[in-house]
Amino acid sequence: MKIWLDGGLQDMESARVSVFDHGLTVGDGIFETVKAVDGRPFALTRHLDRLTRSARGLGLPDPDHDEVRRACAAVLEANPMPLGRLRITYTGGHGPLGSDRGEHGPTLVVAVGATTRRPDSTAVITVPWTRNERGALTGLKTTSYAENVVALARAREQGASEALFGNTVGQLCEGTGSNVFVVLDGEIHTPPLASGCLAGITRALAIEWTGAEETDLPLDVLERADEVFLTSTLRDVQAVHRVDGRELPGAPGPVTAKAMRIFEERSGDDLDP
Ligand code: PLP
Repeated sequence: MKIWLDGGLQDMESARVSVFDHGLTVGDGIFETVKAVDGRPFALTRHLDRLTRSARGLGLPDPDHDEVRRACAAVLEANPMPLGRLRITYTGGHGPLGSDRGEHGPTLVVAVGATTRRPDSTAVITVPWTRNERGALTGLKTTSYAENVVALARAREQGASEALFGNTVGQLCEGTGSNVFVVLDGEIHTPPLASGCLAGITRALAIEWTGAEETDLPLDVLERADEVFLTSTLRDVQAVHRVDGRELPGAPGPVTAKAMRIFEERSGDDLDP
C-alpha cells in the first residue's frame, strides 16, 4: 500500500510522521474522506473547498489544491480498487509540546482504503451528549473526533451503525459521520448549518437534487417522522429502519427510496458535481 507524504508516494509500512506532530498531540488537524469509484474521486472539488474552509477555521495555511489533487491521483493509481475511501489528513505539523503552533509547515498525508457499499437501511440511536452549535470548531472537519468515536461505540453496543446528536438547544443536529434527514407529510427536511452540523457534501447534493428544506427540528421529531435517512460520503443516501426503540418498518419508505434513486443516478452521471 502506497500513501502520499512529504510531497511524494511512500510505502505505508515505512512512512513516518513526527511523534510531536500536532495532529497527534493536540488534534490540530483537519481531514476529508473522499469516495473513489474505479480509481476516480467523487466530488473532489467540493471536498477541497471544504478542506480550505476547515484550514482557515483553524488558522492553518491554505492547502495547495494542485498538490492534493496530484496526491489523490497518485495514491489511487498506485492502489487500484473498485470502491475506495481516500483519506486526506492535513495537520499543523510537528512542533514543541503544548498548544502553540510550531514553525514547521503542515503535514499532508493522503491514503486510501478499500470500502464496500453500505446496506440500504440501518439502525441508529440518539445519544445524550450535545453538539455545540457555537463552538470554535463548529462546522470544521477537524481530526478532533474523539466525541464521535465515543458516540459510535455506544451505537455499536446497541446494534446500531450511527449515533445522532442534538445540539445545546434541543434541536436535531447530525450523526458522528453523517447528516440526518426526516420526511414529514411527504416533505424532506434536514437541520440547517446553524444547528452545528457539518456542511456535508452528500447533504448539499441531496438538498440540491431532492429540494429538501433546511428546517429547525426538535430532537423528538425522530419519534414521529414518517421516514428518516442519513447522508454521507460512505453511505450515500441510507434509509433508517430503527431509531432507538422505534421501528420504521418498510424502510426505505417511498420518499427515501426516491432520494436514493436520484442520488445514484445523478452521482453516476457526474463525478465532480
Ligand atoms: N457530519 C460529520 C460529523 C461527518 O464527519 C461527516 C462525514 O464524515 C458528515 C456529517 C457527512 O459529510 P459528507 O457527506 O461530506 O461525507
